[in-house]
Amino acid sequence: MTAQQSTEERREALKEVFLVARSCERCPQLAQTRTQVVFGAGNADAALMFVGEAPGRDEDEQGLPFVGRSGQLLNTLLGEIGLQRDDVFIANVLKCRPPQNRDPHPEEIERCSPYLWRQLELIQPTVVVTLGNFATKLLRGDPAGIRTIHGRAEERVLGTRRVRLFPVYHPAAALRSTVNLGELRADFARIPELIAQGAPEQPEPVDLAAEPSADDVAAARAEAAEVPPQPAAPADQPAPAESQLGLF
Ligand code: SF4
Repeated sequence: MTAQQSTEERREALKEVFLVARSCERCPQLAQTRTQVVFGAGNADAALMFVGEAPGRDEDEQGLPFVGRSGQLLNTLLGEIGLQRDDVFIANVLKCRPPQNRDPHPEEIERCSPYLWRQLELIQPTVVVTLGNFATKLLRGDPAGIRTIHGRAEERVLGTRRVRLFPVYHPAAALRSTVNLGELRADFARIPELIAQGAPEQPEPVDLAAEPSADDVAAARAEAAEVPPQPAAPADQPAPAESQLGLF
């Protein structure tokens, strides 16, 4: 079980997931048009994880998330709350750039989300900040839009862990509007307080010795149906350099 893995084991497992993702061709169009897969980067044991939408042109070229204008704004906002990129982990809903930066298609999100769930499971963040509509809707499992719910922290179970989920505007939206920028900055100012609250109480671990009730079985089946399948690591690929993965 992931909960019993050491920090080093989780880090190594994250690299294995990266190995799978970097040659992924589940989305035929994106696999053809991308320059490279942008898996995510940062501190593999971060308390704070950001989830954006998808790589843009700069990210596609460099292989790292949030390195263009949106990334520069993200760095500035992090600095204003006393954090740096190597304090956090940053990933996207999609690991490949959609052509002309079009919106991700629902089937692409479905195909790619197992990587994100696995990242969340291995990094074990306390606070997950969703940047914009796509990440927010995916991780909340709810169609509520970012304009309505940004800045509202809530506890959510993501996979096997309960986290503090905090939706905010995508930095790209803040670059287009000073009003959005002001609201994003105000939401960012609350992040240190959320981190300081520590991890929420975790769901009860399953007692394997106990006889499950019919309700338990039904609940477990429903939960299993929601958890996406985990990607398997290919055996014949070399281990990635940590700089390639952007790990700190
Ligand atoms: S977007 Fe995700 S699922 Fe689709 S090809 Fe890229 S890595 Fe694979």
